[in-house]
Amino acid sequence: MIERHDADVCIVGGGISAAMLAWKLSERRPGISIVVVEAGDRMFDASRRWANRQRMLDYGENPWPGDFIADQSADGIISRSMVVGGSAMHWGGVTNRFSEEDTRLKSMFGLAVDWPLAWTDLERYYCEAERRIGVSGDPSPLPGDARSAPPMAGMPLSWNLLQLQDWAQKSGIAFWGTPQAKNTAPYDGRGKCQRCNTCAVCPTQARYSPDHTFKRLLAGKAIALHDRTLVRRLTTAGTGGTARIETAQAVHRDRPDTPVEYRARTFVVASGYAWSSHLLLLSASSRFPEGLANSSGLVGKYMTGHASVQTQIALDAEIYPGMNEEHSLIAREFFRAGRAGPYIRHDLRVWESTVNREPRLREPSGTMLLGDALLADWRARTRRATARVRAYYDVHPDRSSELTLDRSTTNRFGDPLPKIEHRPDAASLARRDATLAHINGIFTRMARNNSGEMAPLEIGGFWDHPGGGCRMGIDPAASVTDSFGRTHDHENLYVVGSPTLPTGGCTNGTLTFAALTLRSADHIADSLPQRPRESPES
Ligand SMILES: Cc1cc2nc3c(=O)[nH]c(=O)nc-3n(C[C@H](O)[C@H](O)[C@H](O)COP(=O)(O)OP(=O)(O)OC[C@H]3O[C@@H](n4cnc5c(N)ncnc54)[C@H](O)[C@@H]3O)c2cc1C
Ligand code: SF4
Repeated sequence: MIERHDADVCIVGGGISAAMLAWKLSERRPGISIVVVEAGDRMFDASRRWANRQRMLDYGENPWPGDFIADQSADGIISRSMVVGGSAMHWGGVTNRFSEEDTRLKSMFGLAVDWPLAWTDLERYYCEAERRIGVSGDPSPLPGDARSAPPMAGMPLSWNLLQLQDWAQKSGIAFWGTPQAKNTAPYDGRGKCQRCNTCAVCPTQARYSPDHTFKRLLAGKAIALHDRTLVRRLTTAGTGGTARIETAQAVHRDRPDTPVEYRARTFVVASGYAWSSHLLLLSASSRFPEGLANSSGLVGKYMTGHASVQTQIALDAEIYPGMNEEHSLIAREFFRAGRAGPYIRHDLRVWESTVNREPRLREPSGTMLLGDALLADWRARTRRATARVRAYYDVHPDRSSELTLDRSTTNRFGDPLPKIEHRPDAASLARRDATLAHINGIFTRMARNNSGEMAPLEIGGFWDHPGGGCRMGIDPAASVTDSFGRTHDHENLYVVGSPTLPTGGCTNGTLTFAALTLRSADHIADSLPQRPRESPES
């Protein structure tokens, strides 16, 4: 027996991109049937978050127990979160925008590729994403960042951040509070941030997470949500050069012997950076032996993200770490690269740090510290402050920066799992040493003030805020989707969010994934026939 479902729009994946898409589609086209199919569980019980938070504080446990699927992992992924809400159930909520340079790398610097959309167009959707997610932040004073203000005022800086801002700005660099998806005033039915410092699981829901949106859409019967259901293949219908997607073939974790089939007018893959390309490659058939949407051969190629480098700087300042320590300062002036000078772009963040401030039972020499000696040692070490300083810097992916199917590792259904290997292009490799030297110079400049002492550089071992694999572009031979995420090959198949990014910027990416998805939502809403199906599922 096969379990069958029909809908106008079938969204594969239930992360923040899917939440934004379903929310906007349900507003733009009320009455259409939308089904969101998510492999993971729904964790909607907000009251359990207090207990989970306490266990995280007491024992360091995962505050989202069971938010992953044991045999659905991959080589090279950085978050295993598979749950309704996706990784954004425990994200930090930092919501920086990219800058115009990110969309015009080729025309401004002769590097990588231009994005197939205008910055002013993207900026409009940034505003919408900030409004829907609920971002608090202050407008950037840099003229290049002209923008409307986020919907809430920025988070007030703690005493600690004010001391660190005073220190950091002595180096001649302007710093201000980082924008975040955390309420500084009651917003959208959620309360104000209490600065309780456990943002991986926000007990008050002041930090936005997509479950909030899904719960509301379900309450309004605007979507159907099928959780615990893994889509394993998309199939096509029709003949000729192009083919429409006809079904999504899935399996429910509790009923593995009953295949589940979704039929829809439009299919949207919103499965994040790892599983979107994976699904298209898995959907290979005799007609499409290289996978769906892959006439360019670029599905799974140009996997993006940004590299990072950080250090700890001890300095003279009086701080008391522990209140809202996830909040940080940011400088945006290095988002800009002069056209004349060497191309180097990065963000720059400063946090309070507890490094070397924890009480300890032994001195480095091995001598035991007891009673007054322990206290004296701790007092001596906390007389100074420590700042964590980090830069995400721009690296552009090579074509060989790729996601492939690893046929040596399979899930319980025998499907090969993905393997991701990030590789920078030649220009990024060539400028790596100069970039690191430049950032080291900035850290050193900051450490010159307040008798700073800088620890050795820590070079990040992975690319953060990954994306790519289905990059957007104008030329079907050089890209997988158009600027709206519609695949060049299949008129009713879209990919939204992170996989469509041609390059990964040099700051947190999720606001950009959300903005692009909202732009896709407009296109999908316009492309649906005026008359919805007659009996939508609820
Ligand atoms: C600890 C942590 C902190 C972070 N902090 C920040 C931050 O401060 N700022 C920032 O910008 N970003 C941050 N991020 C990154 C951010 O969480 C992600 O960029 C964002 O959540 C990605 O959303 P998405 O919807 O694109 O994908 P995902 O969140 O990955 O959602 C995709 C969903 O699709 C489901 N799925 C996949 N394949 C299938 C399938 N075949 N069938 C059914 N379902 C499927 C998955 O289970 C998943 O739930 C953080 C991430 C982590 C882990
Ligand atoms: S600090 Fe604010 S956003 Fe973070 S967990 Fe506490 S209330 Fe939530």
